[in-house]
Amino acid sequence: MRASKLFFPTLREVPKEAELISHQLLLRGGFVRSHAAGIYSYLPLGWRVHEKISQIVREEADAFGGQELHMPVLVPKELLDETGRSAVPVLFALKDKNKRDFFLGFTHEEVVTDIIRNSVSSWKQMPLYLYQIQTKERDEPRPRGGLIRGREFTMFDGYSFDSNEEDLDKIYRANYRAYGRIFDRCGLEYLAVEADPGAIGGSENHEFMLLTEQGEDTVLRCNACTYAANAERAEVPEKWATEQKTLTGEVMPEWLKTENALREGTTLGASYSKKPTSDFDSILSPELVSTPGAHTIEEVSDFLKMSEAKLIKSIVMSAGGKPVMILIRGDRELNIPKLARFLGEKSVELAEPGIVIDVTGAPVGFAGPIKPAREIPIYVDNELRQGSNYVVGANQADSHLVNVTPGKDFWVTQWGDLRTAVPGDSCPRCDEGRLTDARGIEVGHIFKLGTKYSKDMNALFQDVSGQKRPIIMGCYGLGVSRTMAAAIEAHNDANGIAWPISIAPFEVAIVVANIKDEAMMTAAQELYAALKTKNIDVLLDDREERLGVKFKDLDLIGVPVQVIVGKGLVEGVVEVGLRGVRERTEVNLKAAMMHLVALVTDLKEKLNPKEPLE
Ligand code: ATP
Ligand code: MG
Repeated sequence: MRASKLFFPTLREVPKEAELISHQLLLRGGFVRSHAAGIYSYLPLGWRVHEKISQIVREEADAFGGQELHMPVLVPKELLDETGRSAVPVLFALKDKNKRDFFLGFTHEEVVTDIIRNSVSSWKQMPLYLYQIQTKERDEPRPRGGLIRGREFTMFDGYSFDSNEEDLDKIYRANYRAYGRIFDRCGLEYLAVEADPGAIGGSENHEFMLLTEQGEDTVLRCNACTYAANAERAEVPEKWATEQKTLTGEVMPEWLKTENALREGTTLGASYSKKPTSDFDSILSPELVSTPGAHTIEEVSDFLKMSEAKLIKSIVMSAGGKPVMILIRGDRELNIPKLARFLGEKSVELAEPGIVIDVTGAPVGFAGPIKPAREIPIYVDNELRQGSNYVVGANQADSHLVNVTPGKDFWVTQWGDLRTAVPGDSCPRCDEGRLTDARGIEVGHIFKLGTKYSKDMNALFQDVSGQKRPIIMGCYGLGVSRTMAAAIEAHNDANGIAWPISIAPFEVAIVVANIKDEAMMTAAQELYAALKTKNIDVLLDDREERLGVKFKDLDLIGVPVQVIVGKGLVEGVVEVGLRGVRERTEVNLKAAMMHLVALVTDLKEKLNPKEPLE
């Protein structure tokens, strides 16, 4: 490609609407243009990068036996009705002229399952893996950061179909490795983390995160082992988490033994058997204190001059339409997805104020576990096993109870891991580690779906014994456009984008110092033609611009290898340099082609995947 013909409308100014560096550079470098929030055109440079990433993804999916197909963007509503997903809030909905309802595809589990249920009927037709690289449409509430969160974006979406769990596991691992290989090849350092399955459902699932300050997600990882999880998902181990006192004994206090004997079939005894005896020496009895106007944890903590960690939040939730009370330490956050899983309920939300008042018999802000107006189940976060003498709401206006100890002063229906993990928590997998946090951009997400979709949509197969069973599925998503933006977040400097060579719009740029100099033009054109025969992606900068302007543009758009055909030509040499590196090497013109081919190969080899194929 000749730069004089290339359409890349660069901008000198930083566009006002763009906060993230990737968004700014995509606009400034003439890679994309926006038409509405989260809706972009890819200009030629942007499309080159997009297609390079797509090709890497395609090669890796083909390598483990994936077959590419292409599904429609328009999806009939009835298909999503079958799985209950026609109510998903991000759907763009429309009608055809006969008033039939359609959605714009936001992911394609239903469509692919519709294909499979009509074509696969025997275990002999599986394992099967189908994928596409396609435009997805989601009416995101907060489109942000250019290509990071668009309303129209490109996703690789793969779907696996198996007759048994072992095969599902095999293909899941193959995807896991392929994702690693893809990000290695794109020059991105990633971290695979355990994640929340969210609306898609299913069991095991991992997110692939690109760690950067700009990430929307918080990742927690162990400083001693390989455990890593999205903070939404990270488990808090049952052993006592942060700020624990050293365990001094394994003795269960007398009062608890009696309680346990009275209440068989509970988990109390097991958990309390580890309680340090010294901790119980100081257990006090509850006392009512007046806390006028103090509703929130912060207000109560200020008023009583006690740390938030000594307070208990009593939260009335509605789980499957029934009220329940959840207790967590005052300085912690309730994790609603964890609670939903724990209770085995799909719909779990904060109870309406009317229900809170009805259940507690007090105004909102004074709920507590001791003698609420109505008897309700009380689920308590494991962490509260560790202390005693907490402050709770008294179920009376303007009052709290101090010196309350769970399990002693009120009955715990069940203990559980209900709070969101935080940095400093013990690792749930190893004995010595602690969790530390980092920010990440989710670039991929893989799920073992199991039989959720095949059951809902009646996609059955005959197993070896002739029995009909639902097909076992997995789904695998990777954001192509988001990866493009994430790569810029990871690779940029004051002058622009420093693309890894594998996804750069051009691998090499030949800059002609003076296009009016015939010898320079001829030498540059010959080198350009020679590199093309070697399948190098080369840009010939033959624009009538000052050298400084050309370099500025090449640095902005991120061409990794830059060759200058300039004054040195009289001595038969050209200069070869790498973007972002000041020193350049003089190379004999005759040897330049081979030198550049070797240089490009070398740069590419550095991006060879670390993950093995098998
Ligand atoms: P998020 O939590 O970021 O909204 P998600 O979990 O809903 O994403 P998935 O359904 O898992 O997304 O989609 C698979 C992949 O598609 C994501 O890992 C991400 O790379 C990409 N992706 C999802 N939503 C968007 C978007 N709005 N813009 C760009 N890429 C997206
Ligand atoms: Mg996801």
